[in-house]
Amino acid sequence: MSLPADCLFCQFVDGTLETEIVGQNEHAIAFRDINPQAPLHVLVIPREHYADVAALAGADPEALADLVGLAQEVALDEADGEYRLIFNSGPMAGQSVFHVHGHVLGGTKLGWSPA
Ligand code: AMP
Ligand code: ZN
Repeated sequence: MSLPADCLFCQFVDGTLETEIVGQNEHAIAFRDINPQAPLHVLVIPREHYADVAALAGADPEALADLVGLAQEVALDEADGEYRLIFNSGPMAGQSVFHVHGHVLGGTKLGWSPA
């Protein structure tokens, strides 16, 4: 598991690495996924490092609420407020970056094929 010092998403938060930030609030930032799976594919992450959504929920529910609010805001801006919000938790579920992130997907009629 990544430590904050070498975490890609922590580097987006602190500005060490550049990304296209499309929204932010007190606890969360939103930026475009580098490999979009839908016309809208933005990642929402907390400014603080937590490995997954359960860790975030346990430690800072207010930050999780801010993150969900930011997802909604981006989806209202870019997809009429209709979207899917996905948190992959663990490698078997497809998690590859261990700084919690919600995938905000929309902008088209979405299918349902997690396998
Ligand atoms: P997950 O597989 O759920 O952990 O999601 C990680 C997501 O991060 C994937 O959808 C990647 O496309 C995305 N990603 C990886 N590197 C970058 C990057 N440099 N900038 C933006 N998104 C990235
Ligand atoms: Zn991090």
